[in-house]
Amino acid sequence: MTTVTRFAPSPTGHLHLGHAHSALFGWRAATAAKGRFLLRIEDIDPQRCRPEFERDLMEDLAWLGLAWETPVRRQSNHLDDYRAALGRLQALGVVYPCFCTRRDIAAEIARAGHAPHGPDGPLYPGTCRHLAESERAARMAAGEAYAWRLDVAAAVRRVGPPRWFDRGRGWQEATPEILGDVVLARKDTPTSYHLSVTVDDDLQGVTLVTRGEDLFFATHLHRLLQALLGLHVPEWHHHGLLTNDRGERLAKRDRAQTLRSLREAGCAPAEVRALAGFPD
Ligand code: GLU
Repeated sequence: MTTVTRFAPSPTGHLHLGHAHSALFGWRAATAAKGRFLLRIEDIDPQRCRPEFERDLMEDLAWLGLAWETPVRRQSNHLDDYRAALGRLQALGVVYPCFCTRRDIAAEIARAGHAPHGPDGPLYPGTCRHLAESERAARMAAGEAYAWRLDVAAAVRRVGPPRWFDRGRGWQEATPEILGDVVLARKDTPTSYHLSVTVDDDLQGVTLVTRGEDLFFATHLHRLLQALLGLHVPEWHHHGLLTNDRGERLAKRDRAQTLRSLREAGCAPAEVRALAGFPD
């Protein structure tokens, strides 16, 4: 089977060395296997994504020496694919509308006096999980904004805890409950990171998902979504994250580490590849 990998940045800022590491990691995995390498633009957030960052990131990646297949998939052009997947989850009865605001959620957690925590913070307390159908219908009809959340317990009951294979860590039993009832379609857009990434990796025939270990727990959820939606199952390889000299994870705010600034400071592509952990 041909290996297909992808790099899937969000155009919310300029790429830094951490992105270069991730892109090179996926690109090397594809080229080592004589496979295919894809670039996907994850731009579902209209507030934060900007076309000039998309243009710049393509320029930076090409400068770094990467080549990818065209056409590039841009998520904002495919909202119907995510709507269709959400519709299938609705038909399975494993998602529910959630009307809570951030403030409602914080108040509910404070009221309960404790909240189970996941890797990304306190879990959604489940306020809207058991609303009566009549109340849901009335609130929707009244025009209240709502998101769609996964009923993770119902979903796991339906398909069992699926397993997945990480090339670095071996077989994993998916434990998506640790993320709680995550949002699959946001109030402002008919999808979320989790839903669109899972749908796209299937539609694009990705066989090896390479990405940072900060997304290791997200994979547990993505594997569950694949089982629910009957999607093909890739392998994963989560790589370590580059850190700055203070040992902190690189972030878009570390301006000095952007590929652009390194290039403007006179670095050659091979030097930047080496700084990103991939000496030639
Ligand atoms: N778009 C995500 C990010 O910018 C990465 C998605 C993925 O590799 O699954 O961090």
